[in-house]
Parts: sequence; structure tokens; C-alpha cells
Amino acid sequence: MAIVLTGGAVLTVNAANEFLPSADIRIEGEVIAALGPAGSLARPSDTLLDCSEALITPGLVNVHTHAATAFYRGMAEDQPREFWSAGYAMPGQESFTVEDHVLSVRAACAEFLLNGVTCIADRLGNMDRIAPGIEASGIRAVVGHSLVDARAPADWKTADAVIERYGTDPSCRIFAGIAPHALDTCSDALLRECARRAEKTGARVFIHVAQNEPEVAAVRRRGHDGALACLIATGLATPSTVAAHAIYLSDAEFDAWPTYGIAIAHCPASNLKIEARTLPLACLAGRVTIGLGTDWTASNNAMDMLAEARLAALVGKMRADDPQALPVQQMVRMLTIDGARALGLDGLTGSIEVGKRADLVVFDGNKLEATPVHDPAANLIYSLNPRAVRDVLVDGALLVRNGKLTWDDEAALARQQRTRGARR
Ligand SMILES: [Zn+2]
Repeated sequence: MAIVLTGGAVLTVNAANEFLPSADIRIEGEVIAALGPAGSLARPSDTLLDCSEALITPGLVNVHTHAATAFYRGMAEDQPREFWSAGYAMPGQESFTVEDHVLSVRAACAEFLLNGVTCIADRLGNMDRIAPGIEASGIRAVVGHSLVDARAPADWKTADAVIERYGTDPSCRIFAGIAPHALDTCSDALLRECARRAEKTGARVFIHVAQNEPEVAAVRRRGHDGALACLIATGLATPSTVAAHAIYLSDAEFDAWPTYGIAIAHCPASNLKIEARTLPLACLAGRVTIGLGTDWTASNNAMDMLAEARLAALVGKMRADDPQALPVQQMVRMLTIDGARALGLDGLTGSIEVGKRADLVVFDGNKLEATPVHDPAANLIYSLNPRAVRDVLVDGALLVRNGKLTWDDEAALARQQRTRGARR
């Protein structure tokens, strides 16, 4: 039995950015088995989803998240830079136990899915306990246990357990990466060890880079001429590394960055909220693999990738002093296939093509902000919001149907978050 999405307008995000105004998508198991004209692909025993008034896009890819910090939403507004750079600790976080955080992951993943996100790159401590919750939600994820050695030796035991449990093969719905925390909280020796293990295991490395000035100052005190020089010296300046933020780089570093192929997780809302700063997106886009990320609830606070894309485009235009910079199609790619590429998943997800995994979002065309449809890609970037997310599939499984979770109750999860998330 197959699922057939019938008669939808499809933004394929294939190499030619093809738009199909009225098409069928046939899903067999986890995979997109066929694309064809409307009404051409359904057989009698298939499950049909009428998409004749809907817009179908690839699932949105969120390349930088900390799902288990969902309780921190609204706990730190309008703070000075020093508040954050002192270790990103939340006053009041001690009132939550590890069990609270582990429990909250299900709700966090539900929120991602309800917002049209089908894939996340998630990292935090205790990932051995967090990852099962991510896995159970049905979302696609690469997970990494955060490593630091500023005060105690790095916890390789847990990191290795996560790698052992999930492997590093991106074709598995959940797979593991290596996640050194940042350039200042990890020594050069630890960063080198991460590079070595990444090469050995084929894992990607996820790290916060140049997120604040004290971090760059610390790297300079270790004898490196900035964040990029530190990545180069420790063997992490490779296409297997995903650097989150990269906002405190010099012009020379931005110029040199594309040479190394390091992907960037661009988190505009988080960067603007906690540093009032962002990277020169228009200068880097097209030369560097860039995906978009929400980062955590404390610094964003919405887990809304459509808002993220809109912010990236508009602030990017302002920074470039050019309203033609970061055109709509480029932003659609950043939201989907480029994010997938950053995670090593572009062969598998990020576009709607035969043979790829069925990671899809169906947007309700009967929301007023979805009309008229002069330019569906522009609607996606500049007018749609998560309330238009109707159906979401990951690996061919319907996880959201008619705006509701198929595997849990949103109100019950919200109740749990309100209760367990209340500061005591
Ligand atoms: Zn982060």
C-alpha cells in the first residue's frame, strides 16, 4: 500500500528549482516512488491525501537545535552580551532536573514537526538519554553529545555510547555526530581528537564557532590568529565540520572560509537576540554550504524555521545594502536542500525527487496568507507561517495530519510543559 499526495502544487527544490503546479507524489514505504501529473499515480488500495488546494515542499531542515532546553523559553530577554558569554547558563535552570529535560524532548520534537521541520541537528549533554525521545517522535535527526574539557576531562564515554547506539550512517533516521561544544570550552587537544575520530568514524563534527568575542579572545590567547586559524590548526577546517554561528570572524576569515568547505549553521534570530549581530550572509551564500537553525528556546524563542528564513533574507539584504541579495529561490534552498547538504543528507532528503526519502510538508492553500499564488516560493519565505502546516511526513510516515500530531496530543504535551517547565 502506498500513500499518494494528489494534485498538489509542488516546489521540488531539485537542481532546476522546478515547480509543478498540479502533481501527484507516490510514496512507497520511506521513499518517493514516483512523481507525475495530477490524477496519474493513485491505485485502488492506496491512501490518498487530497492536495489539490495545497502547496507541497520538502521538509524543512533545522541545522542547529538543543531540543532538551525547551523549558528555557522566556527566561532571558533583553540581556547584555556578558550574560550569555559566561557559559550560556540560565539563572533558574537548576530548578529543572535531567529527567525534566528528557521528558520535554517529546514536546520539543512535536513542536518542530508541527512547524514543518522534518530534520534537526541536535546537540547537548546527556544525549544518551535525550536521543531516545527524539527517535520516538519520528523526526529525522543527527545527534551529538556535547564535549567540553575546560574543567574536567571530556566525557567520551557518553559520546562513544551515542555513536555506538546510533552509528554515523546518515541513511539511518537517527545517526550520531561528534559535538565539541565551542572553541573556548574545548582545548586544542580535544578539538584534534574530535577531528581524528571524525575521520575514523566518518561522523560529522558540530561545533559553536565565533559566537562571542570572549571566545575569540580565548582562542587568540592559545596562539591562534582567530577562530578559523584554530579550526585549521586542529584539523577541523573540513567539509565534515558544521560551524554554528560564525559571527565574530574578520573580513579576511570570511574571505578565506570557502576554501575549506566548512558548512555554517546560520541562526539569525539567536544571533540577533544575544549578540545583536549576524554574519554577512549574502557574501557567503553560494560560496559556502549554509543551512538555517533556530538554536535554543532561550535565545530565539520560536522554533519557527519560516520566521528564520524570512529574518535571514531581510537582515541579509540590509547587511548587503542590496534588496536584490538573497533571492527567494536561494532562501528556499537554504531552508531545505542546503541544510540537508550541511548535514551530509542531500542525497537523501531536502528536495522532492524520485528515490529520495518522503520527508514532506503539505501547506494548507486555504489559509489567506497562502493566496494568491503568483509565486509559491515567495509565499513560503515571506508570508506563510506554521499555522498553514497541514500534513508532515518523515520517511513516508504521516506524523502530522490536518495540523494535528498523529502520535500524541499537542494540548496534553503543552500541559506537561507548563507544569514541568514552571520554575520552582
Ligand atoms: Zn547552540
